Amino acid sequence: MAEILKGAPVVAAMNQRTAARCAALQEKGIRPTLAVVRVGAREDDLAYERGVKTRCAKVGVEVRSFVLEPDASQAELIALLHQINQDPGLHGCLLFRPLPPQMKDAEVRAALAPEKDVDGITDSSLAAVFTGAGTGYAPCTAAACVEILDYYGIPLEGRRVTVVGRSLVVGKPAAMLLDRRNATVTICHSRTKDLPAVCREADILVVAMGRRGAIGADCVRPGQVVVDVGIHADEEGKLCGDVRFAEAEPAAGAITPVPGGVGTVTTSVLVEHVVAAAEAIGRQKSDF
Ligand code: NAP
Repeated sequence: MAEILKGAPVVAAMNQRTAARCAALQEKGIRPTLAVVRVGAREDDLAYERGVKTRCAKVGVEVRSFVLEPDASQAELIALLHQINQDPGLHGCLLFRPLPPQMKDAEVRAALAPEKDVDGITDSSLAAVFTGAGTGYAPCTAAACVEILDYYGIPLEGRRVTVVGRSLVVGKPAAMLLDRRNATVTICHSRTKDLPAVCREADILVVAMGRRGAIGADCVRPGQVVVDVGIHADEEGKLCGDVRFAEAEPAAGAITPVPGGVGTVTTSVLVEHVVAAAEAIGRQKSDF
């Protein structure tokens, strides 16, 4: 039986830390505030927004939603981001994507001030993840993978990690964060030959493929730690991951569940980033 690396205790520990930092900021008259920007009302965006609001309320972070019509122009969205950039009462911004087809993702992302990019979507934030410069915020899901491994005391230094997926949202930044922790990282993608063999070589397998149930027992070796980033709904509407849990769990040493794993920690990472952004602005104020 594998150890189940549940997100709940990780979230509880993070919430405790974040709430204490929030309270310290509020003593200085700063209430950390997140701007949520949504174009339209996609059901999964709304669900994530509800989760973010609940988590923020728990630790004392305020949320302000900004909603544009689905047919809004790119200029309108960029003007809204500029307004958020200039508002000292807003410390971070979560922009839901994918954007509607009339907008160019890169042009919109570039309009967000890096110091407010708590979701790690700007090129500047991503560059910092790659250089290790310590500026900017890493994409929250990638950071959540490392957060879970750290919470459960799983050592990274010198360990072989295979990351399946190379998106800029999850796979590549996760690989970079793990590399910075001195893991030996292999990145797999859709052209990787003999994926199961490469997966089995790893001590830690991070799966961010976006393919429901694509990873089975043939990819998992005994004792391996498996982190499943995927989120899908099955035929009955139940949430499941990229890993076939029932098959992989008996073979693995430890495994994250879906739901209740990486996804829930991702939200707490976002909230922590908002608090860090508010602290950074607080420090700037006290420098004057
Ligand atoms: P994505 O942009 O679709 O990227 C998927 C990656 O997997 C690509 O790099 C792709 O390779 C690779 N891949 C696809 N099929 C493969 C195969 N057969 N063998 C090996 N590699 C393969 O997805 P994403 O945005 O990174 O998201 C990945 C998953 O995480 C999705 O299920 C998403 O819903 C979930 N997610 C979860 C959270 C959370 O908070 N838990 C947050 C964001 C995303 P190529 O580059 O060659 O195409």
